[in-house]
Amino acid sequence: MVSGLFSDTLSIMGLLITCDQCGVALADGRTCQDDFHQLLFWEGENPEFWQVHHLTVLCFHLQHPNLYSEEGLAGAKKLLVDFVEMGVSTDEIRKRDRQKLDSGSRDWNIKGDASSRGRYLHPVTWTITARDIVRGGKQHYVANVRKWADSVVESLRDSGNS
Ligand SMILES: [Zn+2]
Repeated sequence: MVSGLFSDTLSIMGLLITCDQCGVALADGRTCQDDFHQLLFWEGENPEFWQVHHLTVLCFHLQHPNLYSEEGLAGAKKLLVDFVEMGVSTDEIRKRDRQKLDSGSRDWNIKGDASSRGRYLHPVTWTITARDIVRGGKQHYVANVRKWADSVVESLRDSGNS
């Protein structure tokens, strides 16, 4: 006979809800979007956090690929590698992409919609998510976001999606 404690544990496991995009376990009704908003809120409060804002946005969206169109996802993957591995600055990207991203001369959308949603060909296991950055607190925010960005590049490469 199954003890009361054991069957309770099983039923809790059976009800475990995970994010269908990044796979994180959603406890207490808290969503990934809630975590993302928490990070943006901290950035709003702390001007020194703005230096990693572009990484926060890219990492979160790359871990929720259906927020992008297929073309948007491909561009975002390349952009994160440019930042993390090529050491390209946000100013350089702005100059480089000004013409390309000008909506007048662009014939595709960055954001996902019914006609095109980004997805990965191979399943990805993320080692750091927005939830971990929230848990890490404000104290090491900039360093933690940089680690997050490194881990996203690595996870995409390891899974054969880069
Ligand atoms: Zn998620």
